[in-house]
Amino acid sequence: MLSFRAFFLCLALALPLAAQAKGEESLAALARGAGMPTIPGLHIVYLAPLGDPAAAPWKNIILHQSEGPPGSARGLAQQQAKNPLKRGVTLWVETDGTVYWATPETVITTHGDGANRNDNRYIDNSQTFHQVTRMNSLGIEFVGNYPDVRAPPTPAQFTTCLGLVRFLQERYGIPASRIYAHNWIDYKDARYCEGCALAERARAQDYRPSTTRTSSSVAR
Ligand SMILES: [Zn+2]
Repeated sequence: MLSFRAFFLCLALALPLAAQAKGEESLAALARGAGMPTIPGLHIVYLAPLGDPAAAPWKNIILHQSEGPPGSARGLAQQQAKNPLKRGVTLWVETDGTVYWATPETVITTHGDGANRNDNRYIDNSQTFHQVTRMNSLGIEFVGNYPDVRAPPTPAQFTTCLGLVRFLQERYGIPASRIYAHNWIDYKDARYCEGCALAERARAQDYRPSTTRTSSSVAR
């Protein structure tokens, strides 16, 4: 028979696990939805509603820093919404953590540079060279590193990044190993490592989506 102390210890251990399981369950349910879902912990402004995640081509997530000043995310997202195929991304994150979902999730925006990095400096590029491209990678831009490109993302942007990638991983079945900093897959501005701190933290949370997409299950 359990002592009282052991009983309460078990309870104390079990409750957070149950809460975590419930949280993941509800995220999984939310992540399958259409429209303009409210995601706990995130403030998303939808300029385009969500549809069927199975129709989207995303196998990877690429984290970018825009070299735009604080306050520029809304305007950049609105420009992207008007002209979805211009150079840019699907999601823009303001320094206060607000997310702008600019284009329909089935639209392939113009970002990345063809995954031309092959020096294995940050990761094993044999897995990315000419493979992690705009065709299969959802892009997120974090604004605010202007005029100083070395200005790091804000604490609110880091928090948003973690919650947003969990949602996107769950929605599109993307494992943590397929989250990339732009600088890991293309040769970028040598003055700083674009997206690196964000991608390191996003990978480190090791979120595991309830289903993982294989390449054969991705709509083409
Ligand atoms: Zn970039």
